[in-house]
Amino acid sequence: MDEKLDRALEHIKQLLKENTIPPLTGDLAEIPELIEIHDEIKSAREILASFSTRHEEVLSALTESLCREIEKWSEAMDALHESETRFKYLANHDPLTGAMNRRSFMERAAQELNDAFRHHYPCGVIMIDIDHFKLFNDTYGHQAGDEALRHAVKIISSCSRSHDFLGRYGGEEFVFFFCHADNYTSLKIAERIRTTLEENPVILQTGDVPVTASLGVVIAKQSDDIKFEKLGNYLETLISYADRAMYTAKKNGRNKVVLYDYDNPQTFTEKYES
Ligand code: GH3
Ligand code: MG
Ligand code: MG
Repeated sequence: MDEKLDRALEHIKQLLKENTIPPLTGDLAEIPELIEIHDEIKSAREILASFSTRHEEVLSALTESLCREIEKWSEAMDALHESETRFKYLANHDPLTGAMNRRSFMERAAQELNDAFRHHYPCGVIMIDIDHFKLFNDTYGHQAGDEALRHAVKIISSCSRSHDFLGRYGGEEFVFFFCHADNYTSLKIAERIRTTLEENPVILQTGDVPVTASLGVVIAKQSDDIKFEKLGNYLETLISYADRAMYTAKKNGRNKVVLYDYDNPQTFTEKYES
């Protein structure tokens, strides 16, 4: 009898421990109390099993909807980031040509001037004005004029080195900032811009039309004592010098490069011969 009781207890232990429900067989299946306990544990285990399955279902549904929400949020964040980048681009660039607009050019140039003065390397600006552009518009139309401006920006940009940058200063006037270039190198850069423009006409539906420009170059005078707040004013002065040199290029026949001469600012006769 003790042995039968031991087997009955063993059966109950297994019922409580094992994953599968052990069958109630032989003489143990004749003990009504054991049958009752067996059935109760069995149904309790079935309830538990169904509860845990349901629990998993709810959990996986929750996880799925959470993932969908996270995906939606990350898409929204991407779109926001994209529109922020686009907005920044529009705020800083000229919509027609893609060159920096005047305000963002001036901000960046002031920072670059500051760096150049602090680290004692040369820098400067080139004023670039398209020649006879009014005549170009009058002859080929305003849309063709727009195309010529886009073309000019592509050509000028193709001539710039990694630290140089270009801004649209006015209608057909562009200002180019360069650094790490002395008088000789800056004139070479300007001359490269001039010749590349001259050698690459704008392609219109009606045919190829040459576009040339007059360029005025100025190198900044190294100064340690200009405060950052004053650099904007200094930059305006620098650009006005480049502008004056550019006008000399116009007077001398256009499609030319002239360097602003600090020693003789009234004449600006230093013309570049390639
Ligand atoms: P110069 O050689 O002395 O510089 O003569 P110019 O004709 O280039 O100079 P002017 O200042 O007389 O004329 C500039 C012209 O540029 C007039 C203006 O209509 C044109 N212009 C300015 N902005 C734009 C633009 O965005 N698109 C077009 N198509 N033309 C423009
Ligand atoms: Mg002009
Ligand atoms: Mg012009």
